[in-house]
Amino acid sequence: MTMSDNKTVSTLDLSSTLEQAIAAALPAPRRTRQAQVRWGDRVVTIGGDAPVRVQSMTNTDTVDVIGTAIQVKELAIAGSELVRITVNTPEAAAAVPHIREQLDRMGIDTPLIGDFHYNGHRLLTDFPAMAQALSKYRINPGNVGKGDKRDRQFGQMIEAACRYDKVVRIGVNWGSLDAELLAQMMDENAARAEPWDAQQVMYRALIQSALSSADYARELGLNPDNIIISCKVSGVRDLIAVYRALSQRCDYALHLGLTEAGMGTKGTVASAAALAVLLQEGIGDTIRVSLTPQPGEARTQEVVVGLEILQSLGLRAFNPSVTACPGCGRTTSTTFQELTQQIDTFLRAQMPVWRAKYPGVEAMKVAVMGCIVNGPGESKHADIGISLPGTGEAPAAPVYIDGEKALTLRGENIAQEFQVLVENYIEKRFGGAAA
Ligand code: SF4
Repeated sequence: MTMSDNKTVSTLDLSSTLEQAIAAALPAPRRTRQAQVRWGDRVVTIGGDAPVRVQSMTNTDTVDVIGTAIQVKELAIAGSELVRITVNTPEAAAAVPHIREQLDRMGIDTPLIGDFHYNGHRLLTDFPAMAQALSKYRINPGNVGKGDKRDRQFGQMIEAACRYDKVVRIGVNWGSLDAELLAQMMDENAARAEPWDAQQVMYRALIQSALSSADYARELGLNPDNIIISCKVSGVRDLIAVYRALSQRCDYALHLGLTEAGMGTKGTVASAAALAVLLQEGIGDTIRVSLTPQPGEARTQEVVVGLEILQSLGLRAFNPSVTACPGCGRTTSTTFQELTQQIDTFLRAQMPVWRAKYPGVEAMKVAVMGCIVNGPGESKHADIGISLPGTGEAPAAPVYIDGEKALTLRGENIAQEFQVLVENYIEKRFGGAAA
């Protein structure tokens, strides 16, 4: 049998399998309730058919009004659609309305989320301007109080949410799981004829803590559309198991994230691995990537990773994507790496302006390839692509535009000339000239 015989047989055999595989590769639809998080005219919908939202959290001292407002602005410009701030002391609570005012003055209408632990009931009662300036409250059922204080203090926070019409995230975390609930569930499990293992009990306790708190919030009058749930753990497979079970048990919008993901590559990969599986299954309405910043690294890196996860899954488009080969023994110099980085950095830097000026530009594809093996082919699939000369190839870089070879660049200034071509392409295709 020849290669071409094989090809014919394989094509016939694969056709129906491929159709099924292509359909199965689409992300499953999300069917949760939809919350509306508001500030002024800005409404960020979460859940249902809304886009999966990216959020982040500041690491400034909230008492530092200017420092916190600046970081919120940076996170918002990077693409964070909601930003959470710590509200841990009376001083921090008093600072919140000033942070909000400062942001409004800077033209940043990104909704703020208050993160409460231990004393949220008191702060939300004693600082009504803070309760009003926040658009959403994060309440951790494991940190609202013990014994008979628990329901009363949780109730005070829910009453504030009802009074000011705010969305609440009931955010359970395995690092601060309701100890009384866990102990009770462990006791009940020990009495079972066939007890579950400790991990199963922990999963159940996480979900039980979130859902029983949501039930109680509804009893107290909170609109179920205003409830978002999260059950965060730090293990990838734990997170997948917990959220799969959680999504079967409720229709609340779900906030997704690996808690304490870690630093750098480890945190990025672990977050992407966990979130990709769940988002592909239609689980998760808003995400946060909890990266520990590396020394000197911008806080905005967690937003960059969150956007990349959604864009790589095809769920949203934020920035033009740059397709680049990894390079190999055929790559002649570092020119190819430099050009890839330069184009990527250039495109990202322009996006805050381009987003409004060139609608649709975020879906553009640029290819930067290291040689002619895959270069021209990949370039043809992109909107605009360049294939740099590999070892032994003529010192020329063919450029493809809309699938056709448009010109060849030569000489020392290939990078600058290609950047100009990209800018011209964007202006022509997405700017007024295209209309
Ligand atoms: S396109 Fe060329 S340089 Fe890039 S990885 Fe493939 S063979 Fe290597």
